[in-house]
Amino acid sequence: MVDATHGTHPTDAPDVRTPGEPAFDDHHPPRLDLISDCVHCGFCLPTCPTYVLWGEEMDSPRGRIYLMKEGRDGEPMTDSMVQHFDLCLGCMACVTACPSGVQYDRLIEDTRQQVERRHPRSPRDRALRATIFRLFPYPRRMRLVRGPLRAYQATGLQSLVARTGLLPRLFPTLSTLESLAPRLSRARRLPRRVPARGERRAVVGMLTGCVQSAFFPDVNAATARILAAEGCEVVIPRTQGCCGALSVHNGRESEAQRFARSLLDTFRDVDIDYFVVNAAGCGSSLKEYSELLRDDPTYAPRAAEFAAKVRDLSEVLVELGPVAPRHPLELTVAYHDACHLAHAQGVRAQPRQLLRGIPGLELREITDPEICCGSAGIWNVLNPEPAAQLGERKARDVLATGAQVLVTANPGCLMQIASSVQRIGGSIRLAHTAQVLDASIRGVPLPV
Ligand code: SF4
Ligand code: SF4
Repeated sequence: MVDATHGTHPTDAPDVRTPGEPAFDDHHPPRLDLISDCVHCGFCLPTCPTYVLWGEEMDSPRGRIYLMKEGRDGEPMTDSMVQHFDLCLGCMACVTACPSGVQYDRLIEDTRQQVERRHPRSPRDRALRATIFRLFPYPRRMRLVRGPLRAYQATGLQSLVARTGLLPRLFPTLSTLESLAPRLSRARRLPRRVPARGERRAVVGMLTGCVQSAFFPDVNAATARILAAEGCEVVIPRTQGCCGALSVHNGRESEAQRFARSLLDTFRDVDIDYFVVNAAGCGSSLKEYSELLRDDPTYAPRAAEFAAKVRDLSEVLVELGPVAPRHPLELTVAYHDACHLAHAQGVRAQPRQLLRGIPGLELREITDPEICCGSAGIWNVLNPEPAAQLGERKARDVLATGAQVLVTANPGCLMQIASSVQRIGGSIRLAHTAQVLDASIRGVPLPV
């Protein structure tokens, strides 16, 4: 638990309550029965990153639920109301903390869809969101960005631009994106099918992802190798696209549904035991496909069947049990719980169990593990200043462990923590859980 620091609120919008139509329409408004589960106890407040930052009731889970109730009571959707919803990171720390079992995840998802459908955004906000959603959920477009970005990093142009200090002043969003981008290395294409090593214990489909495949291809390669080493035949269709996580977490319902249907079609004729995901945000929305496609009589049953097979990499490895021998890795490791793995999927023990199973590896815990690092999908791009504050808080806690490597299971967290550590002048190696396990199974040092 942490104390609220009560800093400056980034928007401070006036509460313009003009008479108008009710905030929500009839298409899945936040459910009244779920709203009424909240008993206003406040146990969730200290775990909410926005409440920790500003100490504002309306930027707490309880305050946001109150605003949803107002909307259900017929109040109009004001700019101020939307800002409080927009500023929610969707980290779901409140879901874990709530003793009354309030399904805030359901509530905020339905609310965000209402906001996206009904609230007119400013031209700047619209343009920024349009750019993000024309790029990020498209693996091919993301891969096209790789080449120029890699050249920008490798030629020294990035350092030159940094020395001028002009980028943040002239193009703040571009500067945020540039600071988050990891150092890119050469990417190798994964085969469409990777055979199991030894006796085949399962056939698994694997999600390659959008950001993961473009910026962290080594994580995907490591994931496929581990699965094969543990007796899984890995099916990796090249036609797969985005799972829709980014869209669903930002209220873009029909876009998310389109991505979900397409992914279901890609794996329609593939007989798999599990569908394995190595990005926390993607895993949590894949597990909720039946909810996303609940109104679609054709896809809803398939979505439910598919969602039941979805596993985070760490879950499937623990479920199957290890067969591949582990080689020692003499490392101290701090493990960071990605919110969409720990809070949204309840996966905390499995990654730690896998890491502790590596001889020589010492696992260290980070203070206030429940507090988000500020990445939260595209939240850090839309809200760079508070994201930087949360990132730096997390970076300090990570460095305080004294660990040599920070390990986590989400590309967004890796980028956010790496850039935050750099900004505060610290230094630590970062790796995905898959890379650490892969190094141990292969008996090679962890790649730098
Ligand atoms: S999801 Fe996270 S940011 Fe949003 S209300 Fe809950 S704890 Fe706060
Ligand atoms: S969401 Fe849960 S923890 Fe938070 S105030 Fe409501 S009942 Fe209490």
